[in-house]
Amino acid sequence: MSDTMQAVVVAEPGGEFQVVERDVPDPGPGEVRVAVEACGICHSDAYVKEGTYPGISYPRVPGHEIAGRVDAVGDEVEQWSPGDRVGVGWHGGHCFTCEACRRGNFLQCENGDVTGLTYDGGYAEYATIPAEAVAAVPEDLDAADAAPLLCAGVTTYNALRTSHADPGDLVAVQGVGGLGHLGVQYAHAAGFETVALSHSPDKETLARDLGADHFVNTAEEDPAERLQELGGADVVLATAPVSDAIESVLGGLGTDGRVVVVGVPGEPVSVDAQQLVGTRSGVEGWASGHARDSQDTLEFSSLRDITPEIETYSLDEVDAAYERMIENEARFRVVLEP
Ligand SMILES: [Zn+2]
Ligand SMILES: [Zn+2]
Repeated sequence: MSDTMQAVVVAEPGGEFQVVERDVPDPGPGEVRVAVEACGICHSDAYVKEGTYPGISYPRVPGHEIAGRVDAVGDEVEQWSPGDRVGVGWHGGHCFTCEACRRGNFLQCENGDVTGLTYDGGYAEYATIPAEAVAAVPEDLDAADAAPLLCAGVTTYNALRTSHADPGDLVAVQGVGGLGHLGVQYAHAAGFETVALSHSPDKETLARDLGADHFVNTAEEDPAERLQELGGADVVLATAPVSDAIESVLGGLGTDGRVVVVGVPGEPVSVDAQQLVGTRSGVEGWASGHARDSQDTLEFSSLRDITPEIETYSLDEVDAAYERMIENEARFRVVLEP
């Protein structure tokens, strides 16, 4: 193996991507080194590109949707060995000692790391990762398919499985894009009566193929009315980061219904409190998951044959690949293959 590797770095906030030759990093105590086979490009990578997330030091290698194989382990790593197929998502490690960690609430760790933000991520041939941030990847999942499941996948899967919806309940997925096309598949596989809400009528065939029982074209129909006609939604998974769209579904909730927001709009969402009080309903948020949540997502995806629709690019093509993502032109997730 060569001592150097190709990596994509952002040198400063707002800087261009630069493809550089770097030393292959050695795993420190408690870390594994992952030979990266695929790394998804996520909208959150704009935090690194533009410097809009607090505390990032530069230069930085972005990338928090990593799939590959362990190729070396540092001291004190017991649970992983070279050759293991692994993945890493947004949650990049935790301290085990803060109050949140002591309660097992690793996502809320006060000293937590974010892959590709607080340390170098997966836009590279190798990345060193804290062992507790690593998930096992089932052998039958392609690395390029697994990568987006470690962010878009775990976010939608975890949001749905921790909601109060039971099999047969009415669950709507608002938006059929990077998150939503996975949300529809998970909702269907979980046994929910699944509604896809989209303002693009050309998504209907796809949404039904992915398992939607109903499709609502929100450009033509009022989603709240349609959801009430179907009995009122138990859960609406809001994946499109548009506050108008989120507000438009509140009236579609049934008793104790919840809008679970996973796509974050840049502006506040206003709610009609009367409407919420009348139905004892609510709006809540959900973020991602830790490594075991990611592994659950991958295992369920493998069990039920759920894969993302992806476009793949080499590291050299990072500019074009990022452009596809940021311009919202990709169908639906963009993946680098170092
Ligand atoms: Zn992401
Ligand atoms: Zn902690």
